[in-house]
Amino acid sequence: MRTEFDVAIAGGGIVGAACAYACARRGLNVAVVERDVLGSGATAAGMGHIVVMDDSEAQFALTRYSQQLWKELIRQLPPSAEYEQRGTLWIAADGEEMDAAERKFFYYSARSVPCRMLNARELQEEEPNLAPGFAGGLLVLEDGVVYPPAAALELARKARQLGASLMIGQGVASLGQGQLVLEDGSSVRARRIVLALGADATRLRPDLPVRKRKGHLVITDRYPGFVHHQLVELGYLKSAHSNSADSVAFNVQPRQTGQLLIGSSRQFGAEHAEVDQHMLNAMLARAALYLPDVCGLSAIRVWTGFRAATPDKLPLIGPDRNDPTLLLATGHEGLGITTSLGTGELIADMLTNRPCAIPPEPYLPERYATVGVSGIPP
Ligand SMILES: Cc1cc2nc3c(=O)[nH]c(=O)nc-3n(C[C@H](O)[C@H](O)[C@H](O)COP(=O)(O)OP(=O)(O)OC[C@H]3O[C@@H](n4cnc5c(N)ncnc54)[C@H](O)[C@@H]3O)c2cc1C
Repeated sequence: MRTEFDVAIAGGGIVGAACAYACARRGLNVAVVERDVLGSGATAAGMGHIVVMDDSEAQFALTRYSQQLWKELIRQLPPSAEYEQRGTLWIAADGEEMDAAERKFFYYSARSVPCRMLNARELQEEEPNLAPGFAGGLLVLEDGVVYPPAAALELARKARQLGASLMIGQGVASLGQGQLVLEDGSSVRARRIVLALGADATRLRPDLPVRKRKGHLVITDRYPGFVHHQLVELGYLKSAHSNSADSVAFNVQPRQTGQLLIGSSRQFGAEHAEVDQHMLNAMLARAALYLPDVCGLSAIRVWTGFRAATPDKLPLIGPDRNDPTLLLATGHEGLGITTSLGTGELIADMLTNRPCAIPPEPYLPERYATVGVSGIPP
């Protein structure tokens, strides 16, 4: 087994796998070192909603770029990736949320994202199982759904077909200065290292501005046609934006199997993987408010996972400010499935000195140079 590479990637989640594939496509010799199995971290816990978001111009740029990359990639993915262009239906509960939906509509329309406003009647026609009385909504047509662990595995396979080495079942004990030191004491040397450890990034680099943000998901038995789009309340944005309080929001996804994924919850400071019953209860009560008949469905499994949150809700993509051999690819919070492909392209472009398709500056780790772990960037 060779131990010297152009680039060695620590972490084989969807971000590490996407970086590996993008680097291998540019002709780099790549190694991926994964402690457990490929796609087993947050990637296995994620919902797989491929969604354009507009919290900031930078968030929009990365999510939209990535979504377009998904649309290209999907033609090459096997059916196990379960990609479907379901569209996102943002539900407006009242007039105030209808105003927010309209602002989103104008923002997206101005940037050529296909979407349309729905009034109360049209909303009910699209989703007859929704409770009556909502004001309307916004349907964003090109958002999709993917099965994240299968997609991550496939990205890694594609990288391997291009010559990448996959070192599975090997933990990285430390990294930097052009090498990964593994838990068995051996090392992997490379011109550049990519840290793609998701929420575990701070175990090896406690100085990074990344915090674990726990989430719960429920999956039901098969009920084909119960809902047709990814359904999200506009209040979700408040939950996702909050930097402190525990929160839940209505977020339901129809899977190709006919199952429903029911989310979502967000917690800081809960670093155990067990289900927190009070969060689960709150999440399901929220779901029942929007979809009353959900109470009659059978849930077959509940799990938790950890998002890697940064203070400004943008990932850290690019050179580490202390180690010239190291690039960071972490901090993707609740959008890492969506933005994995854009991240992979940005990292590969940086490593090969090519121009990036979108401006990389907003994601560069150097924005935290002067503020420390909990600070707001300048
Ligand atoms: C409940 C929930 C719902 C979500 N829903 C969505 C969604 O709908 N859409 C979306 O875009 N995003 C979603 N996300 C976010 C998304 O899942 C993550 O942002 C994404 O999976 C991050 O991928 P990653 O590769 O950075 O991290 P991970 O998937 O966590 O991968 C990191 C990898 O590093 C490995 N590792 C850790 N330590 C070591 C070590 N020392 N040595 C070697 N390997 C190591 C781990 O085993 C793991 O495989 C959701 C997340 C959660 C928790």
